[in-house]
Amino acid sequence: MTDLIIDWYLANKRDLPWRDTTNPYYIWLSEIILQQTRVVQGLDYYLRFVSKYPTIVDLANAEEDEVLRLWQGLGYYSRARNIHATAKFVRDNYEGIFPSTYEEVLALKGIGPYTAAAICSFAYRLPYPAVDGNVFRVISRLFAVEEPIDTSSGKKIFTAYAEEMMDVKHPDLFNQAMMEFGAMQCTPQSPACQVCPLLDKCRAYELNLVKLLPIKSNKTKVRPRYLHFFDFGDKEYVYLQKRGVTDIWRGLYQLPLIESENEELSLDKFKNTFSIDEDIINISNVANYKHVLSHQTLHCSFYKVDSLPAADLSEFTRILLSELDEYPLPRVMEKYFEKR
Ligand code: SF4
Repeated sequence: MTDLIIDWYLANKRDLPWRDTTNPYYIWLSEIILQQTRVVQGLDYYLRFVSKYPTIVDLANAEEDEVLRLWQGLGYYSRARNIHATAKFVRDNYEGIFPSTYEEVLALKGIGPYTAAAICSFAYRLPYPAVDGNVFRVISRLFAVEEPIDTSSGKKIFTAYAEEMMDVKHPDLFNQAMMEFGAMQCTPQSPACQVCPLLDKCRAYELNLVKLLPIKSNKTKVRPRYLHFFDFGDKEYVYLQKRGVTDIWRGLYQLPLIESENEELSLDKFKNTFSIDEDIINISNVANYKHVLSHQTLHCSFYKVDSLPAADLSEFTRILLSELDEYPLPRVMEKYFEKR
């Protein structure tokens, strides 16, 4: 099976820049960028990061705001903060040289077993199977494994299958091939079974289980949140605030916010929050966006407060619109300013 998958890979692989390097820093960057991001979108960000920070020390020496700004639009900003923290850690503890054992790589912030295996196999040819979602699916179907892929016992079983299949002489090629096979051939919704080189070896195909595998134990519960953002600015400036460190969008900038239990905006709460005692306020809802994260659905409403009432905005920063580019923003905030 392994040889067939590697042959398929050599004939069908996409040409991607991180496949032409054994530089662990570049491989690590590509792996973090590609978590929860499509290859087409991630490619552009990868090239930008590599060009702006050619070495891990360059990344370590950058300002966090600048790194977040370059990351803007990719979402899941903890990834950007982790790569920055890890770059600083490697600079300070490994003299700027990326560690080269699996244990050391796994101990770095933001790196789990899959990413550690990917880095170690691609950069150092160490025989660790990189078992990502694509590989779970391929193994689940090839061997008709009905164990859920999102349990720790399931993960152990799938990893054991991958270890069994591993080509120890070419772990880099094996891992790339398995991932690419899952991404391009044995896809979630419409696997190309009729032209699959493993058709006569695939247990799921034989047992008519392709559509049912892989199995997930349960779906993540998604919590709705209702965020009301207020634009007190005019054509030249805007008021922003920097988010704290305990919630989504850590360290990014946003318009003044009120969060509520439902879609309704309470005018009393608005007045209290901004210390307004006027009765008539010219406020209008100008945009609404739904933004889906892995555990939360954000219902974001934007309001323009036209004639600035006697609001207390002292805790916000007044920023010229022409300088907005210097502030890292969540994607939904970017969308608002694109149409403002
Ligand atoms: S036959 Fe279909 S389900 Fe089986 S490995 Fe090939 S593409 Fe995947």
